[in-house]
Amino acid sequence: MQKLVTFKAFTTITSTAPISRNQHGYRAKCLQRLIRMGLPVPRTVALAFDTVERIVAGRLPDVRDLLAGFGDGPLVSVRASSQNPAWGGPASVLNIGMNDARHAALCETLGVAAASALYLRFIQTYAVRAVHLDAALFDPGIEDGPAAVAAALRAYEAETDSHFPQDPEEQLVGVLRSMARAWMSTSARLLRQARGAPVGAGLGLVVQEMALGVGATESGAGIIQFIDPTTGRPQITGRYKSQSQGRDAMRAGEGAMYLTRDPRGPSLQDLCPQIFDQLVSHGEALRTRLRDEMQIEFTIQADRLAVIDAVTVPRSARAAVQVVVALAEDEVITRNEALLRIAPRALNEVLHPLIDPDTPRQVIVRGIAASPGAAAGKLVFSSATAQAMAAQGEACILAKRETSPEDVRGMHAAHGVLTERGGVTSHAAVIARGLGVPCVVGASHLSIDKKARTLRTADGQLLREGDLITLDGTTGEVLSGAVPMLQPALDDAFETFLGWADDMRDIGIRVNADTPADALLGARFAAEGIGLCRTEHMFFAEDRLTAMRELIFADLPADRSEALSRLLPMQRADFTEIFRIMAGKPVCIRLFDPPLHEFLPHDRQGMLDLAEALGRPFTEVQRRIESMREYNPMLGLRGVRLGLTVPEIYDMQARAIFEAALDIEAGGDAPVVPEIMLPLVSACREVEIVKTRIEAVAAAVAGERGVEPVFRLGVMVETPRAALRAGDIARHCAFLSFGTNDLTQMTYGLSRDDAGRFMGSYVRQGVFPEDPFHTLDREGVGELLTLGASRGRAARPELVLSICGEHGGNSESIAFCRDAGFDHVSCSPYRVPLARLAAAQIALKSADAG
Ligand code: PEP
Ligand code: MG
Repeated sequence: MQKLVTFKAFTTITSTAPISRNQHGYRAKCLQRLIRMGLPVPRTVALAFDTVERIVAGRLPDVRDLLAGFGDGPLVSVRASSQNPAWGGPASVLNIGMNDARHAALCETLGVAAASALYLRFIQTYAVRAVHLDAALFDPGIEDGPAAVAAALRAYEAETDSHFPQDPEEQLVGVLRSMARAWMSTSARLLRQARGAPVGAGLGLVVQEMALGVGATESGAGIIQFIDPTTGRPQITGRYKSQSQGRDAMRAGEGAMYLTRDPRGPSLQDLCPQIFDQLVSHGEALRTRLRDEMQIEFTIQADRLAVIDAVTVPRSARAAVQVVVALAEDEVITRNEALLRIAPRALNEVLHPLIDPDTPRQVIVRGIAASPGAAAGKLVFSSATAQAMAAQGEACILAKRETSPEDVRGMHAAHGVLTERGGVTSHAAVIARGLGVPCVVGASHLSIDKKARTLRTADGQLLREGDLITLDGTTGEVLSGAVPMLQPALDDAFETFLGWADDMRDIGIRVNADTPADALLGARFAAEGIGLCRTEHMFFAEDRLTAMRELIFADLPADRSEALSRLLPMQRADFTEIFRIMAGKPVCIRLFDPPLHEFLPHDRQGMLDLAEALGRPFTEVQRRIESMREYNPMLGLRGVRLGLTVPEIYDMQARAIFEAALDIEAGGDAPVVPEIMLPLVSACREVEIVKTRIEAVAAAVAGERGVEPVFRLGVMVETPRAALRAGDIARHCAFLSFGTNDLTQMTYGLSRDDAGRFMGSYVRQGVFPEDPFHTLDREGVGELLTLGASRGRAARPELVLSICGEHGGNSESIAFCRDAGFDHVSCSPYRVPLARLAAAQIALKSADAG
């Protein structure tokens, strides 16, 4: 054996030994806790992070001294112990110390088969993990027992030109080195960093005396936990397997038995009732002392229980919520701790169907995860087909190059939406999030042939209309076929948990709701009001679209007012319903925003149909549509610009809002003070002009009804100029709401609909740390936000400030807005629960920091 530089850098874990999570890792610390509680933990030695670092550098601890504590002929295991279990670590190695002599001795006590199985297992593991030989060389084939051991030893010798190490010290050195180096490998580092580990995250190791799990009297190994890991409800789950080691019992179909009495087969409770009872009482004690639901790894050796390890039970998000609520209700942890233990993002899993994590994934294409949840259905390529499928009760996934406002009904009908183009704030993404429909956008490696109704993936796979696919809007993956799903569960624990969040947070959470259905969802998720109601979405229903098109084509004021008089009652009915649903909570209605030509057909057939519907010549329809075409519609005649050039639309909307609010009050429902918001403002004068008209409408309604409508006027800050001029603008309005989708687009000069094509490459190259449409750009867009907020407040101290772009539901943006003194954030319905939790965590952390 090579001469090694040695130093003593290990600590035997006892109840008083100086073991800390920051130096020895979670496992070492947890084992010490188990020892303190008097659990039967085999002798364990912990190697600290710096020891493992030195091992990588070639400096080994004094392994002779280390092993001396384990007696003559030591037999040990080594396990990883990083600071956080989520960061992973190299797999455990068992049975270090097995050699020819030990094998011969164990043949006497355990029997030849059991002893040979142990030795063989160790030779294979050592050869592959410590010496990096090919695993296939050690495939025992048809041989077992001593013959298989001899074959493995021969294979080792042939490959390495040396005997299989017989010295336990040498074996341990090999294992420690390989585990330490595995932790430093690039792939392990990237993986743990993706899970939140810092760059210099250390690895500790624990060396533990083997509790063999094999022997003449009852011996074996198992796992026990006290909740159902999917639901989180109390239930003993796990497995035990006689004559086994480690986690063997958890491998399906290998003769493992149930833990509790079970009609389907033998159980540990029947086989070893006393040990079973001990495990149950250990489980109860662990829950209280370690303040979590723990999974115990145990071994029975010659009828005696050994607790090898305990880790927090891996669990679904739904189970995680259930567990923290139960722990807080049992006063094991505080409510604040419960709130801090769940990542807001994890709630997506509770709110949406999820692909069963045990299902193998056959990914056919990847795109940008735009709206969470999973959906399976038949592939369709047009909104009309999606609606037809929905009418027949069939689930479908709508695949389009990109979507436009005309697709809203098709998207609503579809179970999922897939687009070839677009980013996280593209039309498809925004609408899908609002509807709660899983969505993947910017899947640029697929090509859709709308005419042939086919979709071709990058590797040449051709899918046709009607083929089954599954979309995972949480990961951005598209899978072939329909795969099993886990359904969402909004149970009592979920409601209780978010109620606690509401008690803690100090920033308002509203919902972006365009329809009564959205409003219902927002109210269901306890949003404090509507922060953005995009009224244009109300015009895409079949009956309204026609009236809208008539309005656009009207040449004379009389024709316009005729079309508007048909739209007015529809709008009024929309608002009345939304006001009623929100039951007195504030509702912020944004006046019409999109360019008018979005309501017009662009294909020949559509134009022909329109010409027929309007009774106008086709050529005139074609010419009018052509004349409205804009080179850059996002920066063209939209938002308040439309309000100034075709003012009748805003007049009609203001009237509908006032009448609806007065109707609500007259009908005995909770009164509402509507908020009217002007989109895409860039000049103060725009606000002045529109405000005057809206006040005139209010005066007219007051004259007709004998009651003065009450309302609050606000401006959407979504152009850089509006942010810069917020001081002037604030003099004319009660609130400013930052539309960070357009503001990001205009600050960067980056099209929100096209950025998806190259965003991945930009982020990979570090040009942008994140997609700015997804994570608020604090430096640039953020500066406009703080600037706008402070200039606005300086001019009008009581000015209400909010954000209503897609960033509204995101933790970092909420923290930013809270720091900047905003009153509320508003986000799509399914993000409301996440935002409620995120806001509570931000308040808790800032109280801690202060
Ligand atoms: C925005 O621009 O941030 C916004 C909320 O408006 P929209 O997404 O409808 O343009
Ligand atoms: Mg906008």
